[in-house]
Amino acid sequence: MTRSGIDPIPPEISDSPRWQHSLRDAVRDVHELLEILQLDPLDANWVQPGADEFPILVPRKFISRMRKGDPNDPLLRQVLPARDELEEHLGFTKDPLQEISLAKAGFIEKYPSRALIITTSACPVHCRYCFRRHFPYETQLASQNHWAGALAALKSNTAIREVILSGGDPLSLSNRRLRELVAELETIASVTTVRIHSRFPIVLPERVDRGLLALLEQTRLKTVLVVHCNHANEIDEAVRSALQQVSATGTLLLNQSVLLRGVNDDVDCLESLSYRLFDSGVLPYYLHQLDRVAGAAHFQVEDSKALNLIADLRKRVPGYLVPKLVQEVPGELSKIPLV
Ligand SMILES: *Cc1c(COP(=O)(O)O)cnc(C)c1O
Ligand code: SF4
Repeated sequence: MTRSGIDPIPPEISDSPRWQHSLRDAVRDVHELLEILQLDPLDANWVQPGADEFPILVPRKFISRMRKGDPNDPLLRQVLPARDELEEHLGFTKDPLQEISLAKAGFIEKYPSRALIITTSACPVHCRYCFRRHFPYETQLASQNHWAGALAALKSNTAIREVILSGGDPLSLSNRRLRELVAELETIASVTTVRIHSRFPIVLPERVDRGLLALLEQTRLKTVLVVHCNHANEIDEAVRSALQQVSATGTLLLNQSVLLRGVNDDVDCLESLSYRLFDSGVLPYYLHQLDRVAGAAHFQVEDSKALNLIADLRKRVPGYLVPKLVQEVPGELSKIPLV
């Protein structure tokens, strides 16, 4: 018997998930972005990246959280290519973490007990300060060859307890691909934990769909989701609701931010961010000092200022809402706290 009165599911929703449509519909042009925000599209402070440079990519739902008419909006500054990107700065290089030599077919075993898989090059947004903005993904994707290299490395090193899915953004993979990968990890007895590093739940919270929640809930592995959010304005009600649903699966929710000049380098900002995260079930984990990647020098905050910010924040919020201020130093066995 068929039930009447219920609309059939439109094909575009049943064929591919909504988040993929939002990504396809994302803004990829500087002038269009400026026009949507009622800013001067010909303002010479901003540049259109060339064909061989890091392109702009901003989903419309992220743009809707930006203030119109404000060129200093903290969300806009993260995604809009500034003319400053073109300047060369001493010490700012294409591979600041020397990852390219460390990565073996997208598998990075840098720290004891945990290993990182570069699962995909795709991201829900392009952040201008990204330390992997020049990463040669073509030669470094673990997904080529069905993760075989990464899985073999994990099987041969039983000291690795935790596998970090990174990218790009691992939630760019479909739920089916993620399920396949997690199922492989589940067969390795020494692996207890899978950690996902993702900006999707912040940028496009619709990515947190039923399939993803089921995967997090059903795996035998402990699950950790580290989101990436730099400013309280990134978290609207849809984001908060998505994060709370992830939390309900028993997944530990943490956040990492990058300290960015003109975005979040003041204590009021960091305080609001900590409280907004907590309100969504997320604890602040790391506040990264910028990795010195070519094109991002204008985001750098002095170490002395960073230390003062954290000291001030500590006086305002409970200890569990103070992120660890860290810098990544190539060759070290962990991220290094600034003290
Ligand atoms: C940051 C990072 C990790 C995880 O470090 P934690 O301190 O455990 O969060 C693991 N591998 C690589 C290559 C990293 O860059
Ligand atoms: S989402 Fe993460 S990996 Fe992707 S561009 Fe932004 S910082 Fe880089």
